[in-house]
Amino acid sequence: MKITSAEFIISAVRPDQYPEDALPEIALAGRSNVGKSSLINRMILRKNLARTSSQPGKTQQLNYYKINEQIYFVDFPGYGYAKVSKTEREAWGRMIETFLKVREELKLVLLIVDIRHAPSKDDCLMYDWLKHYEIPICIVVTKADKIPKSKWDKQIKLVKETLQADPTDKVIMFSSELGLGREQLWDYILTETSD
Ligand code: GDP
Repeated sequence: MKITSAEFIISAVRPDQYPEDALPEIALAGRSNVGKSSLINRMILRKNLARTSSQPGKTQQLNYYKINEQIYFVDFPGYGYAKVSKTEREAWGRMIETFLKVREELKLVLLIVDIRHAPSKDDCLMYDWLKHYEIPICIVVTKADKIPKSKWDKQIKLVKETLQADPTDKVIMFSSELGLGREQLWDYILTETSD
């Protein structure tokens, strides 16, 4: 995928702040520190557009990035950060639920998990939520460079089993470090967003 433009547009909290140009949207969900910003930066070939998280859990907004004047990435705030208060967690839940419920432009959610660990309880809740709202999911297993290739299959199985994923769910291996999976993920995103 050739990137001709990539820009940060807005941090939105409420629906009246979502962009109005009706481009298809791909959201990214995952725990703090899972590698979401690195994945966005690798996908759009920019070193630092998506801020890699210096303050995990602090960005309680939906960060919109417009790519090639064609598509939006909507970066959800990372979850599972221990120091976030109950009030903040609840606000997070309301914001995401509203988005999932009302946002017709949302075409796909990338659920990003770390290849080294079983998905967390929060990952499972997010997965169930997305299924509940019938939103297409792509499970992106990142940091693939962190373990030997011989162990990938076992970890993918663990990820799918823990999430109780549908056998039909798309799973893509990724490494922001190596650029592995980038083209495959773009191909999938473009297929899912072309009607
Ligand atoms: P975020 O909180 O989900 O946005 O996570 P970041 O993108 O800030 O990444 C968290 C840490 O993991 C950083 O130190 C990254 O350099 C590292 N990281 C992210 N993706 C990868 C990857 O694919 N491979 C390796 N080796 N490190 C990664």
